[in-house]
Amino acid sequence: MRIVNLNPDTDIGASAWFVEMEGHRLLMDAGIHPKREGRESLPMYDLIRNEDLDAIAISHCHHDHVGSLPIALRYSPQAHVLMSELSYFLVERVLHNSVNVMKRQREELGIRDYPLFSHDEVDDISPRFEGFKYNREIEWAAFKKTRAGFLSPTLEFYDAGHALGSAGLMVRGRRETLFYTGDVCFHDQTILKSARFEDVQADVLIMETTRGNRDLPAAFSRETEIARLRRAIRRALEEKRSILLPTFALGRTQEILALLAIMLGEGELKSQPIFIGGLGRVFTEIYDLESHRTHRQYPNLQLREALNLVVLEQGQSQKMKLTGGRIFVITAGMMSENTAAHDLALRMAGDKKQAIFFVGYTDPDTPGGRLRAAKHGETFHFSSLGGKLTRLCQIEDFDLTAHANRKEMLDFVGQVEPRVALLTHGDEDSRNWFQQQIHARYPRIKVLQPKPGEPVEV
Ligand SMILES: [Zn+2]
Ligand SMILES: [Zn+2]
Repeated sequence: MRIVNLNPDTDIGASAWFVEMEGHRLLMDAGIHPKREGRESLPMYDLIRNEDLDAIAISHCHHDHVGSLPIALRYSPQAHVLMSELSYFLVERVLHNSVNVMKRQREELGIRDYPLFSHDEVDDISPRFEGFKYNREIEWAAFKKTRAGFLSPTLEFYDAGHALGSAGLMVRGRRETLFYTGDVCFHDQTILKSARFEDVQADVLIMETTRGNRDLPAAFSRETEIARLRRAIRRALEEKRSILLPTFALGRTQEILALLAIMLGEGELKSQPIFIGGLGRVFTEIYDLESHRTHRQYPNLQLREALNLVVLEQGQSQKMKLTGGRIFVITAGMMSENTAAHDLALRMAGDKKQAIFFVGYTDPDTPGGRLRAAKHGETFHFSSLGGKLTRLCQIEDFDLTAHANRKEMLDFVGQVEPRVALLTHGDEDSRNWFQQQIHARYPRIKVLQPKPGEPVEV
């Protein structure tokens, strides 16, 4: 089979993999690069301009995996777009939200490429979307019949436990199989249960390496980390601090809300409004609606009923009172400009009566990353709109990752027993760690790190 890595960058970037297997062509993921702007953020679709795709399969609805889907479809307008049933409920919201964000960025930051696609285009392509249950084999290549008598490759979605709808993709041909992990989590989160990849074996493995550069302390466990967060929330509220928890709208927001609901149920938290963002509310509603189709804990927990969720109105974050212990679970984990998380952090950072708890990844080159790195009392550059800040507020970090830890990932490689492993979705040091470890532990497995746009024949 022929595989091309279309990610324009060597870091996590924009996920997009072209696969040609037994005469059929599939694109796995159609992401957008979160740190690049305009057309620079797109996968290298020009390389597959002439490759009439049979199908596009989406692993999950985070922007780095689905954010350029309408553009990919311009190259292959006939392609079917396949995803898990749960992603099917999310994908249009995600893409319409992207249009809104891009329009705002065009106005406020003057990025003239934006929007890269329109609301109308999202509506026009949506009839091509199809959702499937996990662990069902789909004949993705049979849409276009080739030579009679030949069985065409199939596709199966495996629950990846990373965010609602997330999936690993199994592509089975007559001779060979390929498994793409997407983003995967091998431990239970507060809501979502861990990935169900137990029976996955394949000839070729494309695997994420997000956590390859992080060794966990021996004493680390998710339970102790959650207990530490609960204590920190209780203490901050006792001291009448307000708490900002910057999160991503899909996944982390609902995990944190579930934790707050549990604290409320166990009397650790008094009933009070929980301020959230508009997109976070939409995804929370879908988590609630799909709770019984999801492989999760607390299937009867309905976040909107359990909590008094209040959506922050436009501009409210700039003027509302911050005294008396308010809780903000606000989307825009990186605190990018023109978000409520940015505006709240701007007001809270210099005030020792406030607390900011980081519970997810922040890129070091973003306002959130710079605030997180600043020492107490240090003056630092926050953002171009916000300028310099002196950090006086309480800041804490909690490791509540929704990605597999590197030891679990390495064990998984042993289970899959691929002939070839392709490393992706990680920084250079992360990929190199896996390359060395796989080489040492499983010397028969060939490890590749395909460069942007580089085709590999495996
Ligand atoms: Zn993800
Ligand atoms: Zn990702």
